[in-house]
Amino acid sequence: MINIAIDGPSGAGKSSAAKLAAARLGYVYVDTGALYRAIGVAALRRGLTTTDKEQVLPILPELDIQLTFIDGEQHVILNGEDVSKEIRLPEASMAASDVSAMAEVREYLLDLQHKIAAENNCFMDGRDIGTVILPHAQLKIFLTASAEIRARRRYDELIGRGTPVEYETVLQDIIQRDYNDSHREVAPLKPAEDSVILDSSYLTLEEVVAKVVELVEAIPEEKK
Ligand code: C5P
Repeated sequence: MINIAIDGPSGAGKSSAAKLAAARLGYVYVDTGALYRAIGVAALRRGLTTTDKEQVLPILPELDIQLTFIDGEQHVILNGEDVSKEIRLPEASMAASDVSAMAEVREYLLDLQHKIAAENNCFMDGRDIGTVILPHAQLKIFLTASAEIRARRRYDELIGRGTPVEYETVLQDIIQRDYNDSHREVAPLKPAEDSVILDSSYLTLEEVVAKVVELVEAIPEEKK
């Protein structure tokens, strides 16, 4: 199977670009952030402190997380319930960032990610796909953009979905999550040495997609 790792900070446009590129190439788009978000939501629903390992780790054996693809769209199923909408709420983002710093949580989600990659030609979007999850991916892309531009995009997206937010809150949230994600001990956010770094700050979505498709088409035959 051909596996494309696409890593980078929140709001760099990984999901929009990878989703379109995947559709164009007939690949599956896998959003691994949704898995951490599902665990975050499970913890929030139980009223737990999401930064506290002692509270979060004991719930892992109670969780059954599945990804299903309906009309090419990923859905996250938590103990039989489709939580795809709930995991997008801002509090779920922060909870995901908190629980994703726990080594045991990352370990818990490893098999599921490996299984999906082994069964599908896919774009796998995350923070540690190229460095930890799929070190042998045929192509690794690190997609980034400035914090202000990423905050503006996330703000527009949330407002567009009818979620009332302030730009400043979104920006602070992004800065905090960048810090958490790149300073944690386990699987910190960083480009893999053999990744292609793509800065989307001044590129349109279509330009990013075109570049990504071009990179996939340039994968040498012997690597496929
Ligand atoms: O990509 P998304 O913003 O949905 O991810 C939510 C959080 O999950 C991120 O802030 C990050 O802390 C965590 N995450 C991770 N590893 C991944 C994907 C997401 O640590 N592969």
